[in-house]
This record gives sequence, C-alpha cells and structure tokens, in this order.
Amino acid sequence: MAEKRDELRQFTVTPLQTNCYAYVSAGECLVVDPGGSGAAVAEHLDDVRVTCVAATHGHGDHVGGVAALCHATGAPFAIHAADAELARHAGEMSEVGRSYDENAPAADRLLAEGDVIKVGTATFTVMETPGHTPGGIVLVGGGSAEGLAFVGDTLFPGSHGRTDLTGGDERTILASLRRMAAEIAPETMLLCGHGPATSMAVELARNPFLR
Ligand SMILES: [Zn+2]
Repeated sequence: MAEKRDELRQFTVTPLQTNCYAYVSAGECLVVDPGGSGAAVAEHLDDVRVTCVAATHGHGDHVGGVAALCHATGAPFAIHAADAELARHAGEMSEVGRSYDENAPAADRLLAEGDVIKVGTATFTVMETPGHTPGGIVLVGGGSAEGLAFVGDTLFPGSHGRTDLTGGDERTILASLRRMAAEIAPETMLLCGHGPATSMAVELARNPFLR
C-alpha cells in the first residue's frame, strides 16, 4: 500500500481566532501555535504521534494551549530563545488585557536561525523574523513539506503583524519581510497566525511591505 500523503489539519483557537496547525507526515505530527484548548486539540490528534509542539512566537494567543497539549501528548515544546520567557507568562494578564489558558512551560528546545524540525518525511527550517516580537520565527517547509511556510503573525495578506506591543519594532519587521520576499520561493503557501492563508507570489504582487 502506498504511504499516506502528508496532511495539514487546522484548528481555530482562542477568542482572537488563532490558527493552530498540525502537520502530519508518516505518522508523526508537528503542532504549530496551540494558542488555547490544548487538551481539545490533542483529542483530534490521537491517531498520530505528536513529536514537537512549536510556537512561531511567544504571545498568549499562540502558546496558551502548549502546556495542556504537551501534557496530553508528551511532546517537547520548541520556541525561539528570545520569546521563551514571554511564553512562560502567556497565561497572565497582558497589555492586550486578556489572559490565555495557561503559561507555556519552559522550552524543551530553544530554536535559532537555521535549526531544522523534522516530522516524518518533512522538514521545517527556522528563519528568524523578529519585529512582531523579538523571537518571532517563520518555519519554512522542506522535503515533503516543500512549498509551505508557517509565518505566524509576521505577515498577513497585504499587511504585517502589529509592532506596537512590547518588543515589537516596525523597522525590524520590515527587514524581516524583505528577507522573506528574497528567500522564500514565490510558489510557497504562507500559513498565517490568524485569518486566511496566502502565497508569496500574491504577496510579492500586492503587499506594500515586501518592497
Ligand atoms: Zn502575536
């Protein structure tokens, strides 16, 4: 029997409608940005082995479900070193006035530029894209995940993530966006932290912040 093709599952979590993604390959699963409802997300992944829970950045609406999901699955938690501390306070009252499910646990793996997360026959390479937060990353798919990238709150269709929160910086995010434009292949589908997906080709054509 032919091996099952890779699969992308998507869950919408938290009152801010965060996209939580589960990338499944050869029975293994990478979960990106479980912002809340970690136990409920785990119930929808009971047919796979969750091998990594990764966050694109440390905001509560992206990591509030990490503790419950890691507890339910035994998977390690990975986040960029510069956002690990932010994530550990994700469940507390923040400047956006809302507290999320729970603080994230201490990171099991601190991510940095060029690090690779393997899941089945897919790879995801860390691209540091600070600006929304200091430790924001994009996970660029390779292997059987070629043509996909998880971009968190760095890029949205025609726009980019907020830079007015603590640790945010407009000039820095613009540099990150220009880097994405130069290094991510145009045909790549960009899976955003909120709202619909887009592609690099579409963004190169219409996103003013990529120029
Ligand atoms: Zn955010």
